[in-house]
Formats: sequence, C-alpha cells, structure tokens
Amino acid sequence: MSNRVTKSDVILIGAGIMSATLGTMLKELAPDWNITVFEKLSNAGEESSNEWNNAGTGHAALCELNYTSEKPDGTIDISKAINVNEQFQVSMQFWSYLVKNKLIQNPQDFIMPLPHMSMVRGEKNVEYLRKRYETMSNNPLFKGMEFSDNPEKLKEWIPLIMEDRPANEAIAATKIDTGTDVNFGALTRILFDHLKAKDVDINYNHSVESIKRTKDGLWELKVHDKDGCKMEYHTAKFVFLGAGGGSLELLQKSGIPEGKHIGGFPISGLFMVCKNQEVVEQHHAKVYGKAAVGAPPMSVPHLDTRFIDNKKSLLFGPFAGFSPKFLKTGSNMDLFASVKPHNITTLLAAGVKEMSLTKYLIQQLLLSKDQRMEELREFIPTAKSEDWDIVVAGQRVQVIKDTEAGGKGTLQFGTEVVSAADGSIAALLGASPGASTAVHVMLQVIQKCFPQQAKEWEPKLKEMIPSYGISLLQNPALLEEVHTSTAEALGLNKN
Ligand SMILES: Cc1cc2nc3c(=O)[nH]c(=O)nc-3n(C[C@H](O)[C@H](O)[C@H](O)COP(=O)(O)OP(=O)(O)OC[C@H]3O[C@@H](n4cnc5c(N)ncnc54)[C@H](O)[C@@H]3O)c2cc1C
Repeated sequence: MSNRVTKSDVILIGAGIMSATLGTMLKELAPDWNITVFEKLSNAGEESSNEWNNAGTGHAALCELNYTSEKPDGTIDISKAINVNEQFQVSMQFWSYLVKNKLIQNPQDFIMPLPHMSMVRGEKNVEYLRKRYETMSNNPLFKGMEFSDNPEKLKEWIPLIMEDRPANEAIAATKIDTGTDVNFGALTRILFDHLKAKDVDINYNHSVESIKRTKDGLWELKVHDKDGCKMEYHTAKFVFLGAGGGSLELLQKSGIPEGKHIGGFPISGLFMVCKNQEVVEQHHAKVYGKAAVGAPPMSVPHLDTRFIDNKKSLLFGPFAGFSPKFLKTGSNMDLFASVKPHNITTLLAAGVKEMSLTKYLIQQLLLSKDQRMEELREFIPTAKSEDWDIVVAGQRVQVIKDTEAGGKGTLQFGTEVVSAADGSIAALLGASPGASTAVHVMLQVIQKCFPQQAKEWEPKLKEMIPSYGISLLQNPALLEEVHTSTAEALGLNKN
C-alpha cells in the first residue's frame, strides 16, 4: 500500500481541549479551510484534558487563593484574579455561542453549577481571608461572594468539613454560588464530534514523529500511523502544536528560533477519590485551601464535588510529585531528551534555583497513603482510609525560560504561546490556569498567527464572544448581560 500524503490549510497536533477549541473557532471563522488532526492515542481528550486527569475547576478566580496575594502593606492584590476571571468569561461566552447555535447540545454534559469556596484555618489566615473578601466582594466580577467565620454558618455550607472540629478553632470560608465544575474531557470529545460532523479529518492512533519546513514555506509532518504500521507525510500552511506535554519536543523539532532556550519541568499529580457514596453526598462545593510552604501554586489542596459520567463524585488533591515523563502516557526519557545544547544552561540554572521545589516534589511523591490521609483529614477530620482510593492525574509540564524579571532559568507557572515570526506555526506550552482559559489562549494564537484575517474576522469574533476586545470590568452593563446570558445558555441557573 502506498503511503498516504495530504495537504491541508491547518494541521492540529493533539486531540486535547486546546486543539478542540482552536479547530472549532477556525471552523466558524474560515469554514472553507480544510483542517486535519493527528492524535497519537485512540480517542480525544485522553491526556491532561481527561476528566480524571485534571480537577475540573472552571478557574474564574472565585476560590483559588494563589491568585490573590497579600501585599507588604497588608492590602490584597486581586489583579491576577481579575485577569483569570475575565479569561474564563471568554470561555463561557464561546461555549454559550456553540450551544445557542446548536453546534453542540446538552451543556450539562460538560458544565455544572457548583459553589466555589476558599477555606482557611488559624487567626492570621482568617484575617487574610476577611480582607480578601472585602476587596473582592466590592468588585462586580466577584459579585455575590459571602464570608463567614461563624461555625454554625460553616456547618450549613460545608457539613463534612466541619464535623468533629474543635469548637475553639479559628476557621473561615468564603462562598460564591456562580462557580462551576467543568468536565473538560467530555467537552473535548463533544467538540471533536462536532468537528467530525464539519468534515474535519481526524486521525487517531497517528503519532507525529517529526516536522520540518519545505522549500515552498509549508510545514511537512512525518506521521506514524500506528494501526497501519506505516509512515505518512502531510503538509500544511499552518500547524498548531496542541500536543500538551508533547508540544515542547515538536517545537524543538521544528527548529524555529523562538523555540530555543526553553525547557520543561514536569510535575505529576495524584488525587484521592471517595468510594463511599454516603460521604460523597454530604459535600457540594469546590473548597480550596492554602498551599503548604514550598508547594507550587498548582498543588493547592482542594476538596471537590465532581460530576463525571452523570454521577456525583468527591476528589481531594492534587498531590504534586516528580516524574520525568512529559505526558501521562509518555516515557521516562522525556525530560532527558528535552535537554538540547541551546537550553542546557537555562535548565541548569533552573535546577539550581528550584532545588527546594524538586525536594518538595520528591517528598510528596514518597508520601504513603496514611500520610496522604492525614492531609485529607485537615479538610475532613472524620475521613476513613477505607473510603478513599488513589488515582493518578495528568502531567503538567511547566515552562522554564530566561526572563528579564527572574533571570536565567526561571520556572513559569502560566501558559505560553510560542509562535514563529511568520505565524506559520504555534505551540502551546505550560498548564495553568489551563483548560478553563482555552478560548482566551486560542484567541492569542489567532491574533499572533492570523493578524490580517483577525481584523476581517472581528464581526464574527464579536458574535462568538460579545466581550471580544472589551474589558468586562470596565463595562458593568455588558458584564451583567454576559453573566445572565451565559448562565441561561449553559443551564447554570437550574440548581
Ligand atoms: C492534575 C491536574 C489538574 C488540573 N486541573 C485543572 C483545572 O481544575 N481546571 C483547568 O482549567 N485546568 C486544569 N488543568 C490543566 C488542564 O488539564 C490542561 O491545561 C489542558 O487539559 C491542556 O490541554 P491540551 O489540549 O493542551 O493538552 P492534552 O489534553 O494533554 O492533549 C494533548 C494531546 O496531544 C497528544 N499528543 C502528544 N504528542 C503527540 C504527537 N507527537 N503526535 C500526536 N499526538 C500527540 C496527546 O496524546 C494528547 O491527547 C489540570 C492539569 C492537571 C495535570
């Protein structure tokens, strides 16, 4: 059989939430473009985007304390929280557009309303939470946030967490009912079904092995068809590296100068999942605590009600750890293989700087189930070991690069779009706030890689995302409209 050779306008590598989002947006903006997808696994949303591999928090900065730091003068800086919230509103608007236009159905299959709460213990932390509440509740983006340090009120909000606590313990929480639980795995699969119906050529069990520029300025991919056990060659004008932890390797293979001097630092994760449905039913919220000293921001412990496969579940974690793999299904050689002559000094500098983080992650990795239960009992004092199992979550590959502020080898905790100067290729690196901000991040890809078309597409972009190019915080009337219309379209008023 001869090798398959295709030419596309756009190739998306990886079938996670990022490629799903970019593909769906491009199909609306340029319906005639032909799009091809290559995914090395047998289905969409099997890596980080899978529901069991991430925490499913619709990150809108309603409960995550790492977005609101205390300044030296004692006031609370909520600028990061404002950014994250605005970015989540962009996702909510795009998902609503898809539902309203019947491009996807049954939003409850991927998004559910769920109170988001922050909980702290100890006098100092209670004071911090009170000040944070006072600052945030005055901001229209966080309207409806409540605060309480009254044990009776807290028992109403979080009975499972309050059971068997010492009466004199200083404890407080904030609660906001407009939070969400998002099943990013289900959403990814829904979007790929939609793309398939729109004639996008989706190839599972196809692993992209290498990528190079052709003489006529296209990108040529060498792709391993794992079912047919053969190599294929595919070209495109534009390639998106949406391969999650696999993006860095492909970026390095592309050879673009923008991909040099960048490294990856993999952080693994574990959740504890409750198998006692009676316990599961006693909790109904996402409750975020404070990160332990030395812990990376993404390992803030939280106790989450989740909706997976139409069933209510309860998960605690994530416990961070160290693994050299860049994907959950990756290889133990991934970290080693990512070291190149151009990034070795950057990586070595990060290695020296992040010694304490590495030590912390290795300690976390070595925790026994009993030790993990002790951490869980900080949240649920009555938790019984036999009610909880451990599940392995996805890998997060944090970007390491040289920055002006941080110097050589600085570890980044956000997401980064790296693109070629001519916009013909873009990679998404990093993992936080992650899937929640997929639409905002893919808009960045569109603006960087299709600047000309982005101007022409503006009316359509505004139809898809009414706040496109506008700050919701500066436009309270539009904010109100967006809150009302997205809640209605996504069925978030029902509970
Ligand atoms: C423990 C944990 C908790 C998280 N919690 C949250 C949360 O609560 N809220 C939130 O918004 N985000 C969260 N995230 C982040 C979020 O899961 C990710 O940002 C998001 O899923 C990344 O999507 P992606 O499409 O970039 O990558 P992925 O979903 O990993 O998809 C990449 C795909 O590319 C494929 N691939 C890789 N290499 C190749 C290749 N060479 N050829 C073909 N295919 C390839 C992979 O098989 C995979 O299917 C969490 C992540 C983790 C790990």
